[in-house]
This record gives sequence, C-alpha cells and structure tokens, in this order.
Amino acid sequence: MIGTTKKPLEEVLAALAPYRKVAVVGCDGCAKICQTGGVDEVAQLARTLEAHGKEIVFEATPERTCNVAKSDPILKPLTDKIQEADALLVLGCGGAVQITRYLTEQYGLTKPVKVGLNSVGHLDTVVPGAVAMEECSDCGECVLNDTGGICPVTRCAKSLLNGPCGGAEGGKCEVDHNRDCAWILIYERLKALGETDKLKRFMEPKDFSKMAKPRTLYIKEGRVAS
Ligand code: SF4
Ligand code: SF4
Repeated sequence: MIGTTKKPLEEVLAALAPYRKVAVVGCDGCAKICQTGGVDEVAQLARTLEAHGKEIVFEATPERTCNVAKSDPILKPLTDKIQEADALLVLGCGGAVQITRYLTEQYGLTKPVKVGLNSVGHLDTVVPGAVAMEECSDCGECVLNDTGGICPVTRCAKSLLNGPCGGAEGGKCEVDHNRDCAWILIYERLKALGETDKLKRFMEPKDFSKMAKPRTLYIKEGRVAS
C-alpha cells in the first residue's frame, strides 16, 4: 500500500487558488485504507471547497486511481465534465495524480492536475485500521532470505546489511529508543529458526543501480518482467 497523509487545507486552497471549477478525484484503493481519499474523504473535501467558493464539477473515486484499467472506465465518460473543470484535485498518491494527468492528456485535454495528499512511502498494514508501517523500501534486491524475513534496509535506522551496530540498549535502536533494534530482531528470529550461521557471512553491498529512477516494469506474456 502507498501511504498517504492529507495536505493542510491552506496548501490545497493555495494550489487551487487560480481555479473556480474543480473536479475531485479520489482513490478507493490505498487512499481509502489510509482514510485520506476514499468516497467519504472526497465528499468531505468537496463540501469544504464549496464553502470556500469553489464549484465542484464532479466527484469520482476509481477503485485504484494509479491503475489505468480501473481509472479510464470511470474518467473517460466524464470527459465533457473534465473539459468543463478549471482543474482536477486528486486525493491519491503521486502515482494516482500522474495517471489522472496521463488520462486527461489521452482525452485530448490539458488541465491542471493538483494533489491533495502527501505520499509517505510503501507501507504495510500491520494491524488493519490501526497501524501501517514501512517494512520494505523496494530496494530491488531483496535480502529477506538471509535475515529471517525482517528487512534491515528499512527497519534498521542505518540500513545496515551487516549488523548490529553496537549501539542498541535494552533491545532498542540507539537512533530511536521507541523502536526495536532491527538486527536484534533478526538475531532472535534466526535463533528461533536455528539459522544463526547466517550471521557469520558478510553481506555484500547492495547494487544500488537497481534503485535507479525511474524504474519500469513491462508486462510480457501476461507476466511482469523487468
Ligand atoms: S531487502 Fe528490504 S527493502 Fe529490499 S526488497 Fe527486501 S524487504 Fe524490501
Ligand atoms: S541499534 Fe540496531 S536498528 Fe538501530 S542503527 Fe544500530 S543496528 Fe540499526
């Protein structure tokens, strides 16, 4: 899931200041889970924008706005309405915003597309409805096979591939005492699995070229291939 938080209303209003007629596009996928851009949040912000003098041309909430196959059937029938709008405001991740822009361009329209949320990373729902936390940084070269299924790249404050750093106190990270030291968690897990030998081997530096941007995946014969 892409985590999102709401931008302050003043920032949204500043972005929309030049425009009167606004279309609000949400996302019923990740943003809905984050309670930032589902149907309810779209309606709530639309009413707030009306109270600030905006005319809402339409509200739409594709199932996953970053997905062209999900968004296009919702937005294409609204082409005339998009034409009428002075700007679109998207309550989704940065990808949702850019796919919305892409689709408007596909419909032959050049419209300002603004973002109402901040994207805060690839998060995982640990306790649905309560906690979402970053477990993976999408490094492109996964080491979980050797770390008992706990990611040191993301959960160690220093992203150490060979740890621990020696600064942990009472099992907590020296950088943030509220968090468990990832490498102690990895040690405990490997011990439980009878795999502590894995700690003896040196993990080579990562190939950071696999994180070079922008990364692209292609679908070939029905499967994703890099
Ligand atoms: S090593 Fe960590 S950051 Fe890299 S892919 Fe695996 S879980 Fe994600
Ligand atoms: S205390 Fe543990 S989690 Fe924190 S930086 Fe050191 S090895 Fe990483």
